[in-house]
Amino acid sequence: MREYGLFIDGQEVPASHSMKSLNPYNGQPWAIVPDGTEEEVDHAVAAARRAFDTGPWGRMTAQQRGALMRSLADIIKRDAEELARIESTDNGKLYREMLGQWQYLPEYYYYYAGMADKLQGDTVPSDRPNFFIYTRREALGVVGAITPWNSPMLLLTFKLAPGLAAGCTFVVKPSEHTSVSTLEFAKRMTEAGFPDGVFNVVTGMGHVGAALVKHPGVDKIAFTGATETGKVIAAGAARNLTRVSLELGGKSPNIVFEDADLDVAANGVIAGIFGATGQTCMAGSRLLVQESVHDELLERIVGRTREIRLGDPMAAETEMGPVANQPQLDKVQEYLEVALKDGAKVACGGKLDPMLGGLFVQPTVLIDVTNDMRIAREEVFGPILSVIRFKDEADAVRIANDTRFGLAAAVWTQNVHRAHRVAHQLRAGTVWINAYRVVSYATPFGGYKESGIGRENGMDAIREYTETKSVYVELTGQPRDPFTLG
Ligand code: NDP
Repeated sequence: MREYGLFIDGQEVPASHSMKSLNPYNGQPWAIVPDGTEEEVDHAVAAARRAFDTGPWGRMTAQQRGALMRSLADIIKRDAEELARIESTDNGKLYREMLGQWQYLPEYYYYYAGMADKLQGDTVPSDRPNFFIYTRREALGVVGAITPWNSPMLLLTFKLAPGLAAGCTFVVKPSEHTSVSTLEFAKRMTEAGFPDGVFNVVTGMGHVGAALVKHPGVDKIAFTGATETGKVIAAGAARNLTRVSLELGGKSPNIVFEDADLDVAANGVIAGIFGATGQTCMAGSRLLVQESVHDELLERIVGRTREIRLGDPMAAETEMGPVANQPQLDKVQEYLEVALKDGAKVACGGKLDPMLGGLFVQPTVLIDVTNDMRIAREEVFGPILSVIRFKDEADAVRIANDTRFGLAAAVWTQNVHRAHRVAHQLRAGTVWINAYRVVSYATPFGGYKESGIGRENGMDAIREYTETKSVYVELTGQPRDPFTLG
């Protein structure tokens, strides 16, 4: 059994309370991690505050920050396999998926390291001849990052890489279910040479996140998780007008037109909903299919779904692991019951896996779903696909946008005019054409509507971690009328 302390001010610190982290594949505890307190959050915020306000971090040049980020990227490359094994053990996702994520993470740090010394302000073409005006892009300050269990370090990196480039310091609260990779990562921050206090970790339950949100020493909360939690966080942060960026849930439509390549589309539908056992914010949980190809597409999807190999997330041949924890399994089962009661029918799956038991649920395709059913309106976060028919393009767009979410969508068609026309009408932060579940460090990611506030990744993300300051310089040295606006 591994045992960890908190990580505060560059050191592992013994915790006053602890909790066990379970391996969802076998249900066994495998690590003991701190269950932090408000007082421990206070210590961590004080360390991050000191590092930001008076520590060596604040005096570093952007080039020096960039160099540290490149060292960190090299260390992640070196340790990717070990860190991927840790995350797979903690959240039950396939080792090969977690390894792919860890091997990709260095790119985020290289990309934003390159941005650190290009964060420049403007000289403003002044309408006042006696003023020289310029702007500075300054680091926002102390960031409280609160992350979920599905992709702990990828989703933290979406926040940390631009935040470090800008010069912010961090206190991180990972999900209670998946604390270990963030605690391991903290040691690599020190090894890379980041000064004490730049990166702090307080693990624990939701109350640790709540303590961070209300803390007056925190300048911004960067959150990924459920929409309902995001609303609670936004309300809490409003008390101090703490900045927030929120990456929340989705009910993303995967729209297949009759002129699509149905083999390729079927493969994309499977990737969209059964990849990561459906536990991704961008899951393509609503399949909208044109009536004329409904049966043909369904046959392909059901055929492939029945072949999906469930099993040990560490094994190379496994395609789908367990759901990540018991509350998540309960939620999936409850939604299945609700869907059937509302009139949906099971085309395949629909039960716990009889061979594997535990937290394994069969990949499930539900047909005869209409967009007003709860299964089509609420995020399940599990391997359940709802199939909804549409008549024509206008009908597809209407159903796709008839949701309170707006994280992602996909369009499957071989007609280039239709592809772009529909993409432009979809109210979602990301639209894929003839693809699903692709992200890139260089491309903004975030949600419309109740899927979030702000953007992660790409050039847009750096704005979430900076404030713009305008500086007016008087050029004549002469006094002016003190009773008018300058
Ligand atoms: P939550 O949104 O509940 O949790 C995400 C993070 O927020 C966790 O670290 C959690 O701590 C913390 N948290 C919980 N309550 C508060 C609070 N009041 N103030 C501050 N922080 C808080 O997601 P869960 O992990 O519980 O998953 C539940 C559902 O969330 C899933 O079924 C899914 O629908 C959705 N989800 C969405 C994700 C996405 O990427 N959009 C990712 C993961 C989940 P703790 O772990 O202790 O609860």
